[in-house]
Amino acid sequence: MYSSVATMKATKSKKRGTHHLTRVMNALIAAGEPLTAYQVLAAVRDDGLRFPSQIYRALDRLVARGLVHRLDSVNAFVVCSCPHTDHRGVKTFTICDSCGAVQEMTSPTLDRSIHEAARATAFAAAHSSIEIRGVCQACQKQQDSPPTPI
Ligand SMILES: [Zn+2]
Ligand SMILES: [Zn+2]
Repeated sequence: MYSSVATMKATKSKKRGTHHLTRVMNALIAAGEPLTAYQVLAAVRDDGLRFPSQIYRALDRLVARGLVHRLDSVNAFVVCSCPHTDHRGVKTFTICDSCGAVQEMTSPTLDRSIHEAARATAFAAAHSSIEIRGVCQACQKQQDSPPTPI
C-alpha cells in the first residue's frame, strides 16, 4: 500500500515525465525522419530538457508504448507510422541509404515465417524487427535520370 506522500510524489514525477515525452515526441514528428538521441536533444534543448539521460528515458518510454521505434542499424528513433497500434507482428522498416527516408510496413507472411522459425527451436519470441537497407524509389529515379548539365 502506498502512503499519500508517495502517491503524490509518483503523480508529480509522472506529470513531469509526460511533459518530456510530449516534447521528445513533437521533436520527432517535426523532424519527419529518424533522429539520433543527440539530434533529439539538440531539438528540445531550449525546452528545458538538458541531459542525454532525460532524452534516453523519454525515448525508452515512447518505444515501450509503441509510439516510437528504435532503428538499430542507424542508431536512431522514428515515429511509428503504421496505421494499426498492434505491434505483435514483426516490425519491418526500409531505410534509404541515400536520403535516410524510413518506411514502416507489416508483412503477415514474414510474421508467420519468423514465428515458425522461432517455434522450431522452441524459442519464445517476444518481439523482432527487420531493417532493410537500400535505396528508396525517389532516389532510384534520381540516380537513373541523366546528370543535369551545368
Ligand atoms: Zn509502428
Ligand atoms: Zn531515398
